[in-house]
This record gives sequence, C-alpha cells and structure tokens, in this order.
Amino acid sequence: MKAEILAVGTELLLGDIVNTNAQYIARRLADLGISVYHHSVVGDNPERLKDAYELAFKRADLVITTGGLGPTKDDLTKEIAAEYFNKELVVDEESMKKIEEYSKRNNRPVLESNKKQAYMPKGCIILKNDHGSAPGCIIEDKGKILIMMPGPPREMKPMFENYAVPYLEKFSDGVLVSRVLRVLGLGESEMEDRVKDIIDSQDNPTVAPYVKDGEATLRITSKANIKEEAVKLLVPMESNIRERLGDYIYGVDDTTIEEVVAKLLIDKNLTIATAESCTGGLIASKLINYPGISSVFMEGVVSYSNDAKVKRLGVKKETLDKYGAVSKETAEEMAVGIAKTAGTDIGISVTGIAGPDGGTAEKPVGLVYVGLYIKGSVKTKKLNFWGDRQNIRNRTAISALDWLRR
Ligand code: ATP
Ligand code: MG
Repeated sequence: MKAEILAVGTELLLGDIVNTNAQYIARRLADLGISVYHHSVVGDNPERLKDAYELAFKRADLVITTGGLGPTKDDLTKEIAAEYFNKELVVDEESMKKIEEYSKRNNRPVLESNKKQAYMPKGCIILKNDHGSAPGCIIEDKGKILIMMPGPPREMKPMFENYAVPYLEKFSDGVLVSRVLRVLGLGESEMEDRVKDIIDSQDNPTVAPYVKDGEATLRITSKANIKEEAVKLLVPMESNIRERLGDYIYGVDDTTIEEVVAKLLIDKNLTIATAESCTGGLIASKLINYPGISSVFMEGVVSYSNDAKVKRLGVKKETLDKYGAVSKETAEEMAVGIAKTAGTDIGISVTGIAGPDGGTAEKPVGLVYVGLYIKGSVKTKKLNFWGDRQNIRNRTAISALDWLRR
C-alpha cells in the first residue's frame, strides 16, 4: 500500500505554522509498515484542493489529510472530498447530537456553521473526535482510501491513535521498530566514518545518520512481521554500533543532554553554578528544563560585559586587558569565580564570539572557551564552531554540558 499525507491549510503554506501533523503521521505509518511516498501541503482553496486530491490518488492508494474540518467557510477538506468521490453530504445524527450538547454545555447557540461539521459523506466511516467538535472520517471507494482528520494536533493525535490505527493495522505489511542513538563530541562525518561499512552493508535494520539540532544522530530501523522479531533484529545492531562509538553516545530516542547531565549531578550530589557570556544563560536554562534540578543547581550569571565579569565573578582586569574576554584565562577565572561566589562544587563558564561580527583572524567567529572548575581544580577547553549566531550559541551550550558528562 502506498500512502500520501496531505496537509490542508493556508497557514502551513505561509510558514505560519509547522506541519507537525505530517511528521507525526509519517512516523506512525512507518511503525505500521505502510510506505509513505509523498507529503504534500495545499491551501484552503477549493480548486487547488481538488487538484491535490486528484494528484494524490494518482500516486497513492491511501491519502490521509489533516486540517480543514472545522466550522468556518474556509474549512473545505470534507466538502471537496465529497465532490471528488461524488458523494452526497448527509447529516450524521450522532455527530449532530454531540455538537448540540457541546454548544449547550458552553452556553452557545448552535450556529449553522457548527452544524456543517455533522454533515458527512454518505457511507463513510466516522472517526469520533474525543477532544473537539469536528469528527473525522474514512471514505473507501474504488480501491482508494481517504482518511480525514482535524488540524489541531491535540484532536488529531488521539483520533489517529484510537480510531485510525486500528483501521490501518490490517494494511500493515510488517512492523517497523526504530531507535535513535544520540551522539555528542563527534561530528556527523566522523561518526559516519566509524560506522560507514555498517551503513553500506545493511538493509534490515537500516542505519541512517542525520543531524538534529546540532547533534549527530543515528536512526536504526528494523522491520519484521511482529514487533518482537523486529526488536530482535535491532538489538545486535545497536550493540555493534555502540562498540564503535563508545561513550560518544549519550542517550537514545528523546533523551536530551541536559537530562543526562542533570541526573548525573543529582546522583553524585554535586552542586553547580554557571557563568555565561555568549550563550546568555542557555546552559542554565537547559539544566533548569529538568525538574528536580533545584537540589544541585544554585545560580547562573550572564556576565556579558567585561565589567560584569569583573564585578560579578572577580575576573581580574589585568587578565581581560592582557588576554581579552574570549580567552582561556578569562574562562578559567569565570569558572573559579562563579563556583566561589555560589559556593558550589562545580562552576562552568563559557566565553566566545557568536558573531556575525566581532571576529578577527586571530579570534574568529565561532571561537569559544569553556572553563570547568570542579572541587579545587580548573581546566579549560577551546572549541571552534561555524554557523550562524543561534547555531554557535546552541552548540556551545550543548558541548559545555557534554563536557560535564565526561
Ligand atoms: P478547527 O476546527 O480548529 O478549525 P480544522 O480541522 O478546521 O480545525 P484547521 O482550521 O486547518 O483545522 O487548523 C486549525 C489549527 O490546527 C491550526 O491553526 C493549527 O494550529 C493546527 N494545525 C492545522 N494543521 C496542522 C498541521 N499540519 N500541523 C500542525 N498543526 C496544524
Ligand atoms: Mg479550521
């Protein structure tokens, strides 16, 4: 079975919102072993929507839409689908009752526009919306299947899981299981080099390297008739790769580096404070993402100016004059300074040039020093990044956290 995901909505075309529905559905179809060959996006326009259906059904047996099921005039997904399949729209009593009750509960009159949501293509399978008023539906006709779901993710996801997945399971030609290994401290190409022969020689499981938010990752995916078999294929591949990449792998799937570091600090009962220049508090903010960090995270200082580095952290004026703010020496004094003022076991500091301006031949944009004070001794690390300002700041924060892990 070939599937296509069709997201409907002008906001998507304009870039006002990100098409997370397509991402979600694509992943879940992969889990089901249903191949997705195309993703498409179309605005709320009747002619173009009809064209989109025509094209989608030329190349796919199953089309899944999201969006455009609401009460307003520009919500056309269902209406145009009925036209495309030559089906009448008839009232679904149960949906109508739900809409009336919903309006009553919210003390609102039932508008004609609300009622529109209860009109469904004749003979379709209705998908209940447990989190909103617009039901979804499935049209089966001439060997083609169209599944329509609402746009809001909080309505779409439960509808998909509870009603669409059980329907789709019969088309699954196997089960896919995948695991993402997250790597820090190795660039994408270095990582790839270490596992290149594995990537080239495998087709089940497949191993796919990609970069996500400045980190190198490897997705291992295996396919089998049942989940247990797929897992059995995946496990030896994962250990094979782990042997090659060792502790450059810091986590799997949705694990974040701050989570790993936070757990480690809490586990070892090591208190920490941060002194940040170019990252502007990003390291502190990432650590504070982790609930429970309050037992070890004491404070963070954003010492952006030289003056602040002197006043808040006790960096010596001579150090700044002699070596500059972006230097090994300054990073060192910042790390020691913050640990002292905060009275913590660990002080971590960063100072660097995030750009786009301010770089020189000697100190280019992307040059960063990280300082790490741990219980009496201090060390520094020089890093060189390239990319835009946000990229450099984010990678600096991630690298500093990664250093804490080691
Ligand atoms: P409503 O009843 O809320 O009008 P709808 O089914 O008509 O729902 P849309 O009007 O197309 O859906 O979109 C409603 C909202 O759902 C959008 O403003 C957006 O926040 C979210 N949304 C729509 N499509 C997507 C998508 N593809 N990915 C992520 N979010 C989406
Ligand atoms: Mg709408």
